[in-house]
Amino acid sequence: MMKKKKMMTGLLAAALCASLATPTLASNSPNGNLTNENQVYSIKGFTDHAEMVKRLQQIVQNSQGRVALEVAGQSNRGRDIYKARVGNGKKVILIESEIHGNEKTGTEALLNLLQYVGSSSSPEAEKIRKEITLVVLPKMNPDASELDRRGNDMSWDEVVEKFPQLKAAAKPAWNYYATGVRQERDYTGKPGFDVNRDFNPDLNYVPKAADFPGASSKPGWYITPESQTVRDVYKSLQKEFGKVDVFIDLHHQGQYYVEGTDDLVTMSLSAEFVPDPRTHEGARYANYSEGYNVEFSKQLNLAAYNALQSIGENSVFNNITLYQRNLDLPGTALGSFALNGSGTILFEVRGQSHTLGQKKKGQLVKAVETGLYGIINGVADGSVTHLNPDDYEKIPETAYAPSL
Ligand SMILES: [Zn+2]
Repeated sequence: MMKKKKMMTGLLAAALCASLATPTLASNSPNGNLTNENQVYSIKGFTDHAEMVKRLQQIVQNSQGRVALEVAGQSNRGRDIYKARVGNGKKVILIESEIHGNEKTGTEALLNLLQYVGSSSSPEAEKIRKEITLVVLPKMNPDASELDRRGNDMSWDEVVEKFPQLKAAAKPAWNYYATGVRQERDYTGKPGFDVNRDFNPDLNYVPKAADFPGASSKPGWYITPESQTVRDVYKSLQKEFGKVDVFIDLHHQGQYYVEGTDDLVTMSLSAEFVPDPRTHEGARYANYSEGYNVEFSKQLNLAAYNALQSIGENSVFNNITLYQRNLDLPGTALGSFALNGSGTILFEVRGQSHTLGQKKKGQLVKAVETGLYGIINGVADGSVTHLNPDDYEKIPETAYAPSL
């Protein structure tokens, strides 16, 4: 059942996944579950890069040849970025996790998903393998993952070494963390980029000094090897299949409320990352209007939402909201790939991995998996195309304070 909107909440304009100002309610939250945003818990319970490689190899073995594993590229520090592929269907679904290295539940969910779709003989898994080609990039930003932080591990000097034309740039990229503390991590001496602002809807874009430092509302440059790897995977799928039907990006956010309630949000969803190219606001993206299909993106988000709602009323899986509205983020993977014609879905799970530690891990991983199966099954049997895109507006909004 859909929750009725009770009130409109003024949303702060802020970047995707940024820690927004959160009321200090650590101990007296109405439902007692809000944890201190500045707390740093161990992330040992999450799968690190070496463990992931072992697990992927096991998944391949168990799948009897159904799951193909490849190294798609290398991070700036030389770690392998893996791509796993399963299924022989005509519809292509691409999913990535940990573009922000402190947002770890997506990787756990993707490993479970690969294990099931690759090895199960259930009618559901067989149907998915028949209808879908599922391509997964777990832990796409391994340097950030190993550092348990948002940004990668690359300096501006290293960028200029690879793109000498950028010596002439007025300033480094705006999304470069050169110094200072962000989300409890000090970048001084170990700078890096927010890789999720390094995408460009022009998949053949070549970095130009004049385009720096850029801005949140401008496209990125593919200056990081991590975004280049994802872009290359995307292009190779376009070449093979004509298009990438669906792209899903798995993130975490702060701890917020379901509008009009004191329920903490379990996960937020979004279908919209740039203004619609067919509208006045989106006019600068007009070249992309032919492929852009926000109605399909809304249907895909609804498939995830409905799957979560179906788990049961009054469960945490009911506490699903829409992420911030009216975004203009062409430098995100989602923004760039939406403009290239993919149906796009953002998952934003509650809390950064280190603010919750293992406390909610099982629950949050289950939320991600449930949403993913909602989408994948809906695409496999075609039911997603029968959902009414207008119902997207009935999903509750996110509030930044409880409504007591
Ligand atoms: Zn994120």
